[in-house]
Amino acid sequence: MTRALATLVLILIGANAFAASGKQAAPSGSFSGAPPEFTRFSSAEIERGFLALAFGTDLLIGAQPRGVRRFDHPVRLRVVSGGSVSRAVEMQRVVAEYGEKIPNLRVIAADSADADIVIRLIDEKDFASSLTAAFGAAVTKRFVAKTDPQCMTSVKSRADGEIVQSVSFVIVDKGDAVFLDCAYHELLHAFGLSNHDQRNPWTTLNQRRMVGYLSVYDRALLTLLYDPRLKPGMTATQVKGVLPRLIHDLQLAAPTPR
Ligand SMILES: [Zn+2]
Repeated sequence: MTRALATLVLILIGANAFAASGKQAAPSGSFSGAPPEFTRFSSAEIERGFLALAFGTDLLIGAQPRGVRRFDHPVRLRVVSGGSVSRAVEMQRVVAEYGEKIPNLRVIAADSADADIVIRLIDEKDFASSLTAAFGAAVTKRFVAKTDPQCMTSVKSRADGEIVQSVSFVIVDKGDAVFLDCAYHELLHAFGLSNHDQRNPWTTLNQRRMVGYLSVYDRALLTLLYDPRLKPGMTATQVKGVLPRLIHDLQLAAPTPR
């Protein structure tokens, strides 16, 4: 019995040697204590994250969406300042980083209420009342009871997969770590990666992790989502069919070890 277990452990360690690699420290500008990141992934590791995070969500209102969701035009984004700590400039810097680092994702600062993405900066004590004002008491109650969130994003999309509008609430008064973690995490949702994966050790969308920067891994997932060969509304089966080619062409994965 003991021997069998020991063998099993050795096999698992052996398999891990071919998993994510290229570990490096969190980039400058991260909060103190931000986790290091892996920078090289296999194609399978990226596929697994994409399929888990681009489909599904914590709370669904309305019809079951069949396909991936994203914007299919330049994204007009509005940051609504608020709360007791001024974070609007920092928030705009995070937004700009996504625009610079994700090919085919164009983000334009907008000031109108009907912007494609609205990010509301708020204090933690105002979280529940802000959600109630935006979504009504019934939805807020269901959502808070189910997920006990610290920050949140609502993504409204059409049946064809195009996002109509995303609204994010980001807490500003609980320190740099909470703010940065929420800012990077909620933007991933707002752009269309609407799910979480608590078993994925690399993504910011694992609610057991605090990351607070745009990791190489999440950047790869968003790069795939906004590639023109991937269309809003594509089903998981259709996406599975194109991912390996996209990951290869975009050079998102490390070469397979021989
Ligand atoms: Zn989330």
